[in-house]
Amino acid sequence: MDYMPVEPLRALQLHRLQWTVKYAYERVPLFRKRCEERGVRPEHIKTLADIKLLPFSKKTDLRDEYPMGLRGAPMDEIVRFHCSSGTTGKPICIPNTMQDIEVWKNGAMRCLTMYGIRAGDVLQVAYGYGLFTGGLGLHYGGEGLGCAVLPISGGNTERQIMLMRDLGVTAIACTPSYFLQGVDFRRDTKLRHGIFGAEPWTDEMRETIERETGIVAHDIYGLTEISGPGVAGACPHRTGLHIWEDHFYPEIIDPDTLEPLPDGEVGELVFTTISRCGTPMIRYRTRDLTRLRTEKCPCGRTMRVMDRISARSDDMLIIHGVNVFPGQIEAGLLRVPEVAPHYQIVLESTDTLDRFEIKVEVTDEAFSDDIRHMENLRKRVLDAVKSIIGLTPKISLVEPNTLPRSEGKIKRVIDNRKK
Ligand SMILES: [Zn+2]
Repeated sequence: MDYMPVEPLRALQLHRLQWTVKYAYERVPLFRKRCEERGVRPEHIKTLADIKLLPFSKKTDLRDEYPMGLRGAPMDEIVRFHCSSGTTGKPICIPNTMQDIEVWKNGAMRCLTMYGIRAGDVLQVAYGYGLFTGGLGLHYGGEGLGCAVLPISGGNTERQIMLMRDLGVTAIACTPSYFLQGVDFRRDTKLRHGIFGAEPWTDEMRETIERETGIVAHDIYGLTEISGPGVAGACPHRTGLHIWEDHFYPEIIDPDTLEPLPDGEVGELVFTTISRCGTPMIRYRTRDLTRLRTEKCPCGRTMRVMDRISARSDDMLIIHGVNVFPGQIEAGLLRVPEVAPHYQIVLESTDTLDRFEIKVEVTDEAFSDDIRHMENLRKRVLDAVKSIIGLTPKISLVEPNTLPRSEGKIKRVIDNRKK
């Protein structure tokens, strides 16, 4: 499917979109109600562009309709639930049919194949197993390809490294921040591939990982609301991430006006599942910011490419009236090789201007008691960050291994400002 010519691909997408809209209209009361409010019926979808007639869906819909208000398939077709906790209140719950699980596995297999992973590879899945989709997604994808899968889940870094050595692990799947904490992961191992996702990370972070560990860092994208890891992945040409758009139809919209944007323009990524039964999601707003590339990828795949996700609209900070993304700060810090990629952004209210501080670890090699040396380094870090965000934060250099570590998604922003 990756190389399907564009014309039949668009025809397939239209066919599947029309099927999905009719399916959801008949079975999901909230979707039907919103269509009726807009005067839209399934037969109005005559071209792919007609998707703009349909209502959006959001994470709050899944929360409001908890546990199963958006379910499309009858209960005797549901084989598995996945849930995500979210930051506040009720979780969201996604019922999946066997076909949904197969589509998800297929997406993960296509990503792994694209990364050059094959039968014979040993894949350590250090994503969490359970309600979170990370672990099981890569697990089924790896097994589907004939890899030997080590379902170790997260945590216990010592044991991770022991089994990695003893079993000859060649590929690991985890969050980039978890991988960076186990810097010993590379020592005396056969590790060649890292499959990283589930949190935004920058090109600079990828370069740092590859330079310091000698592995190839692959990008995988997915979300529980749409499927799981394997909705999109980066090919070796690194033009961005190919979206498996025979199953997940992408749009980019202006997050303010909600109008669709043409390919090439940056906006919010929106997905419509076009082959899913358990929980059909129509025009789901991901909050991720990216753009769809207009140029063809040299690998020959016809599936459209999106820029790698380095920012979520939810993550945007407004500091001293300026819009700042944590990824911009990370990109600045990584320009200075003497500071480690471990950092924390601290924001606090004061009587006057809010306090804006960046704490960053200095590497073992660069850490020194020489005050002049450290002051010079601090100034270079400040210049690197300032040149990107245009603000002057307080830079605090801290000793190696002093900032908190986490086993899942890392918390890099501590925002204690009064709302
Ligand atoms: Zn490609």
